[in-house]
Amino acid sequence: MTRPAARALQRKLLSWYAASKRDLPWRGARDPYAIWLSETMLQQTRVETVIPYYQRFLRELPTVRELAEATEERVLSLWSGLGYYRRARMLHAAARRVVREHGGRLPASVDDLRRLEGVGAYTAGAVSSIAFGRRAAVVDGNVARVLARLFAIEEDVKSARGSARVWALAGDLLPDGEGQAGDWNQALMDLGATVCVPREPRCERCPVEALCTGRARGLAAGLPRMVRKKAPRPVRRVAIVLASRTSVLLARRRAGALFGGLWEPPGTDGPLEALAASLGLDVGALERRGELVHVLSHRRMQVEVVRGGLGRRRSWPLPGPEYDAVEAVPVSRLARGAHSALTRKILALAGVPGGP
Ligand code: SF4
Repeated sequence: MTRPAARALQRKLLSWYAASKRDLPWRGARDPYAIWLSETMLQQTRVETVIPYYQRFLRELPTVRELAEATEERVLSLWSGLGYYRRARMLHAAARRVVREHGGRLPASVDDLRRLEGVGAYTAGAVSSIAFGRRAAVVDGNVARVLARLFAIEEDVKSARGSARVWALAGDLLPDGEGQAGDWNQALMDLGATVCVPREPRCERCPVEALCTGRARGLAAGLPRMVRKKAPRPVRRVAIVLASRTSVLLARRRAGALFGGLWEPPGTDGPLEALAASLGLDVGALERRGELVHVLSHRRMQVEVVRGGLGRRRSWPLPGPEYDAVEAVPVSRLARGAHSALTRKILALAGVPGGP
């Protein structure tokens, strides 16, 4: 693209963004912590899902320092249901580093941001440009799609070569104007989210249609080309929900395991009999409640849910090597606990009142 064409693209897209940007709770925030939090939550998660989590998290832990001082259990409980819990653990570790090494203020440069736990090229570019006005590029799925179409890039944008090409393009297109990079990056993201959408781009509503090579060549809807993702691996599990009217038995998953640090009804990928025996239960006393399916990025979990009574026992053995703690938890505390969306589904299927 010639320099005048790049300027025309910047002008048109920035004025479209000024008039049509999405009204999102983190828009207009100048607090780098709030922007960092929103960008972390938005990774692989839809905007509508993120909004209530973002607002609650910021209300409960409004500064980097408060996040750094919070327990992991509290951070995970504020993240409960949002998925990809590694993001929360990394955010927590990074906040501690920011307090330790940067006096509680997020650094402004991409290089310094990338030294923080869990901060990759995308998040560093977003925080640096949006919060600090630095000339830093971002490429997420939306930006990659828009650029692949605008420039008719036909190679796989997820391949090493395709990704390098898109990142280089994103860097070249950054406007020179003071503090404009943040708006430019958000304009590309918004165009991808609202107009240049995955299946059927709304080219007739697009502010840069006249400059779009993919559109001119009739390629737009087929771009970007991507190698088909592998189907998630099927996993069969069984979960035992032992509950009374007021309490339910939950076990905490070991750090490093899938859902590490979160509490759930004891479960196993092995046979129900072995799990029941590890808890000292007779399978005949358990009632089958049905099956549910929960899909993660790499696994499709099919979980059989069985239910039994909690009885009067005071202590319970660990129900398997996946766990490092076990406890009868009052159902009144479930809503504030650290649980995955899968746990919510399991408790709902088991009919536990007041589930998270
Ligand atoms: Fe996307 Fe169509 Fe706009 Fe090109 S003209 S950027 S394909 S919406």
